[in-house]
Amino acid sequence: MTSFDYDLIVVGAGAGGAVVAARVSEDPNIRVLLIESGPDYPNLEALPEDLQNVNHSSFFDHDWALRYQPTTTSRVSAFPRGRVTGGSSAVNTAIALRGVPSDYDEWASLGNPLWSWEKVLPAFKRLETDLDFGETAIHGGSGPLPIRRHTRDELVPYQAAFLDACAELGYQQCLDHNDPVDTGYAPHPMNKRGTLRISTAIAYLGPARDRPNLTIRADTDVRRVVFQNGEATGVEVRTAGVIESISARQVVLACGAIHSPAVLVRSGIGPRDVLDRLGIGAVRELSGVGQHMQDHPAIGPTLVPKPGIADFNQPVIQTTLRYTATGSDDFNDMQLEPLSFMHYQGGTLLMGLAACVFKSYSYGCLEFESADIDAKPRLLMDYLSDERDYIKLVDGLRRAMEICATKAVAAVSDGVRRPTDAELADPALLAPWIRRNSATGAHPSCTARMGPADDETAVVDERGMVHGLRGLRIADASIMVRVPSANTNIPTIMIGERMGAWAREELGT
Ligand SMILES: Cc1cc2nc3c(=O)[nH]c(=O)nc-3n(C[C@H](O)[C@H](O)[C@H](O)COP(=O)(O)OP(=O)(O)OC[C@H]3O[C@@H](n4cnc5c(N)ncnc54)[C@H](O)[C@@H]3O)c2cc1C
Repeated sequence: MTSFDYDLIVVGAGAGGAVVAARVSEDPNIRVLLIESGPDYPNLEALPEDLQNVNHSSFFDHDWALRYQPTTTSRVSAFPRGRVTGGSSAVNTAIALRGVPSDYDEWASLGNPLWSWEKVLPAFKRLETDLDFGETAIHGGSGPLPIRRHTRDELVPYQAAFLDACAELGYQQCLDHNDPVDTGYAPHPMNKRGTLRISTAIAYLGPARDRPNLTIRADTDVRRVVFQNGEATGVEVRTAGVIESISARQVVLACGAIHSPAVLVRSGIGPRDVLDRLGIGAVRELSGVGQHMQDHPAIGPTLVPKPGIADFNQPVIQTTLRYTATGSDDFNDMQLEPLSFMHYQGGTLLMGLAACVFKSYSYGCLEFESADIDAKPRLLMDYLSDERDYIKLVDGLRRAMEICATKAVAAVSDGVRRPTDAELADPALLAPWIRRNSATGAHPSCTARMGPADDETAVVDERGMVHGLRGLRIADASIMVRVPSANTNIPTIMIGERMGAWAREELGT
């Protein structure tokens, strides 16, 4: 019998990977190695301020320094991704949404019956302790991730004014954004305690890290997955410049929607023309790798706050309005999110109101220019290339302008800075302004999507196993079939929960 260094290697300790490693290592007989490119901070005392303070996302200190082009007419700019245990869950805004049942029923209808709403709901419940609702038919009361909503008296003035503005305009008040049938305006469910962001490193690895059968190896890049006769048998890693191979019975890739496809390509799994161009020997030709990238594009007005209203130390987001776009059949396909602060312009800290397309139809892709481990993929998002997304965004911008004009918002703001009245009045000016300035919702997904073997766009089957190979699973946002109408952290943790349960079942004795 072959002897392996570990039973399971999980690559990437983010929203998906940390959950898989924590869940599988609950079985003391399965030896798990979790590999992370960024650093690991084993306790709260060691955790740097940017990872603790959820009021700001962390954009620099634990970031991959990626760049992206939102649309074909926009400038290339920074695209944040976390590089640390916890991954992007350790740098994010901590909005904790699930999406709507039709998101997952659509995944099921596209050949993945294990992912219907009915099938994913138990995992959504398992991952949370909902501090407002406790254990109910739709909520969990004992999971690792605490989730709660701000009370009215915790809202900063602009966030409170936003809710009042929604009421003024006649929108419905929402009791719970994670109730599958609810809609309207309310504080966001969020996974934070005070100002502490509860990442998967804290919620999942915290209680697991002392287990003798779990090893966390930080500051280590996985270069490629190693195969023997079509079966993954381990990975090749680089730590402090030294290359080494580590073996395992099974490998789970969880490097996120940008880096999992990059590891696949370096391992010889991807579109034939890409592998040939980069001089990588093909292990398995899969044309969907790095394709079909989706996100939630956003745009909105910037507002000048009245003196004393905006402050860089406030929570950037506390509330949202979820609604169905005019003329759309996609329930809750839009969000309007007030941003307590954005950036300084002429010495003024501006506020924002982002209209985000949460059910988007446009697809972008990743371009790989080198097989080098340090090469960064090019992110060509192609937002708004599907006209349906553009129409929803224009409708969202119009609604955002209505909110800015309410009495409630006028009480905290001295008016809108951009778009200008001239831009709003002239479609010939507005259209290029929208296309030039639309930006990421920070939710890249679907770049190694799930689907049946006869779907040539699919990279993994519905249990996450890479088509045509054995022993290699993917458990992160890249396997989403279509981006759900939710911020993607909680849906990715749900994926980690399910993949963890399956890997544990397969590897357990
Ligand atoms: C600034 C920002 C704000 C966001 N805000 C929210 C929010 O409020 N709510 C929400 O729901 N979502 C939010 N998101 C999105 C959410 O965090 C992600 O969707 C989620 O973390 C994706 O999980 P993942 O496992 O796919 O990838 P990640 O969480 O990014 O994890 C991937 C991990 O793999 C590691 N890795 C990559 N390549 C390698 C390699 N070769 N070897 C070893 N390790 C590697 C990375 O360092 C990283 O730790 C935000 C994201 C960002 C960046």
